[in-house]
Amino acid sequence: MRAEALSHTGLVRPGNEDYFISDVERGLFAVADGMGGHQAGEVASHLALRALEDRLFNGPAGEPLSRLLGAAEFANEIVYRCSLASQERAGMGTTLTAIWIVGSKGFLVHIGDSRAYLLRDGQLQVLTNDHSYVGELVRSGGLTAEEARLHPRRNILTRALGTGGTVNIDSREIELKPGDRLLLCTDGLYEVISDEELAEIVNHHQELGEAARELLRLALERGGPDNVTVVLALYE
Ligand code: MG
Repeated sequence: MRAEALSHTGLVRPGNEDYFISDVERGLFAVADGMGGHQAGEVASHLALRALEDRLFNGPAGEPLSRLLGAAEFANEIVYRCSLASQERAGMGTTLTAIWIVGSKGFLVHIGDSRAYLLRDGQLQVLTNDHSYVGELVRSGGLTAEEARLHPRRNILTRALGTGGTVNIDSREIELKPGDRLLLCTDGLYEVISDEELAEIVNHHQELGEAARELLRLALERGGPDNVTVVLALYE
């Protein structure tokens, strides 16, 4: 594996509540987009990814997908408990999209409106469903993806990590082929760059770092309204 990752505050938000993991040695890649006032969003995204990583590599043995899912559920518990412990952190939560590569397989867990994409043979495929008000409308046919991208209520999440004692996390596994590229990102990227443009940029820049920097550059050129996080990994 090879990977490049970057995270930027953008041009409007006062702080960066996104966080990521790009761990080539252990094959773990993740993004989290925190929410909550008084910097609680930053606490939630950091706490979630540290808990996920810790539980995954130091927790109970088992099949990769159930281990990863167990680690995500553990992260939920940690963030939720922390939110109950202080008034400033009440109601905080985070998105979580993580892929763990084991052998030729990618194991994925996902909750919220960050995204994972697979780029294979020049084609871009989204691997996750947005757990958001507009995401549900797109899936039921009430909105097009383009309308959703510009919708005033696009930031309302229908599911998040850490906002309740129980949580419903999507999980799946995919078979990887050499040359596959995986793109994990927060909504700060795809809200200002369409899927067609994402595919074009990643296909045009074979070097991962160049592609990631070009994606960020374009997001900022378009106003950088939100924190932007990109993790781009190549399966060799
Ligand atoms: Mg965001």
